[in-house]
Amino acid sequence: MTYVERVLADLKANNPNEPEFHQAATEILTTLAPVIEKHPEYEKAGLLERFVEPERVIMFRVPWVDDSGAVRVNKGYRVQFNSALGPYKGGLRFHPSVNLSIIKFLGLEQILKNSLTGLPIGGGKGGANFDPKGKSDGEIMRFCQSFMTELYRHIGQDTDVPAGDIGVGGREIGYLFGQYKKIRDEHVGVLTGRGLSYGGSLARTEATGYGLVYITEEALKVRGDSFKGKTVVISGSGNVAIYACQKVQQLGGNVVAMYDSNGYIYDPNGINLDVVRDIKEVRRARIKEYADIVKGSSYTDGCSGIWSLKCDIALPCATQNEIDKFSAETLVKNGVKYVSEGANMPCNLEAIDVFQKAGVVFLPAKAANAGGVAVSALEMAQSSQRVFWTFEEVDSKLKGIMVNIYHASEDSAKEYGYDGNYVMGANIAGFKKVADAMMAQGIV
Ligand code: NDP
Repeated sequence: MTYVERVLADLKANNPNEPEFHQAATEILTTLAPVIEKHPEYEKAGLLERFVEPERVIMFRVPWVDDSGAVRVNKGYRVQFNSALGPYKGGLRFHPSVNLSIIKFLGLEQILKNSLTGLPIGGGKGGANFDPKGKSDGEIMRFCQSFMTELYRHIGQDTDVPAGDIGVGGREIGYLFGQYKKIRDEHVGVLTGRGLSYGGSLARTEATGYGLVYITEEALKVRGDSFKGKTVVISGSGNVAIYACQKVQQLGGNVVAMYDSNGYIYDPNGINLDVVRDIKEVRRARIKEYADIVKGSSYTDGCSGIWSLKCDIALPCATQNEIDKFSAETLVKNGVKYVSEGANMPCNLEAIDVFQKAGVVFLPAKAANAGGVAVSALEMAQSSQRVFWTFEEVDSKLKGIMVNIYHASEDSAKEYGYDGNYVMGANIAGFKKVADAMMAQGIV
């Protein structure tokens, strides 16, 4: 058994019933094998065993009172995974599916993603099995306040700086920040994704979606191509999907489909993003309404059918494991050339294999969606200096970071003999920096 195989076997035995964590660890560790072989000192230092074990896992009760006066209790989590490069950094997810396995898979991915940005941030993730859907504003506020009443003691601007994720947008960050400030009596950059009036950064809202499109644009550019005239399918209709759609359209691509968790819309004339934003951002309604409003479009119940639509570029931007082997094969059969992951782990391992074997340019999440956390780190820098940069300044830094990530991933893959394998490249490029820092800091 190799070192990597042994660490993976131990991880599965010691963390039973955590399939998402196993899936992410398997993807990461197996691709790191060539680096590990080159560095026998890592095994001696127990580097991988430490890398896959979170520095700290915090689980807590989140009690709150709903509008009818009934007491509700949810489970809250914060996994502080790795602080070798800087304060823990990673979003909070509020979704009924949240459990320890999902938070740990996201946290592990986050370590390498944050490293790839080149900014001084460690990896963490958190959330709750709370479903914001159908809740009133007051219920959301009371939940956020209760969540922060426990979380505040574990975070800080130089310790751990959470942000948003699924179910946690500007509104939730506002309530969370308000409660932190009240308890701690300090107005500091302890959360990112804050509103512009209280310390947020311009372009943070757009960052993940824009970044996803910038890195895909670079992949197209080095192949002498561009988004112009390309047919694009985007899953999801949340923060990442909406701004990915906006940037694709600005670059001349034609986005023909999007979905929410009930079903997908198809609009061969090109998605009218104003209508989607009004439905999803303003009215928090279902995307189904789009087909009633926009002539020539249609709505289909269920999500996975979206991948049977013909497209040149697929941008999965909703959630984990959206694309399985069958969907990947269908996309390939229909001529997809580029798949970039806006969501975290939207393609399962078999799907990635299908894309890579078919020669599709596949950009994995930790490279492709790093734009959000990159601008979060830029928000931290602005908070510390008490300055605000313009939209153009932040956007151009974001673009520079995404282009760098693309080339760092490409170069690392090449260096180890896996030309064109961006999964290997991103994992290796991200890991090397974390490994260096962990080795330098001793057994901690
Ligand atoms: P949002 O909550 O804003 O949007 C999520 C979207 O995905 C919604 O349209 C939602 O549908 C849909 N969705 C959620 N779960 C499912 C499901 N099980 N099946 C089908 N559709 C689903 O989240 P974000 O846009 O912020 O995040 C999307 C992904 O991007 C996540 O994987 C997140 O981890 C990742 N990400 C986000 C970053 C950010 O900056 N926001 C940064 C990096 C990664 P509905 O409206 O019906 O709920």
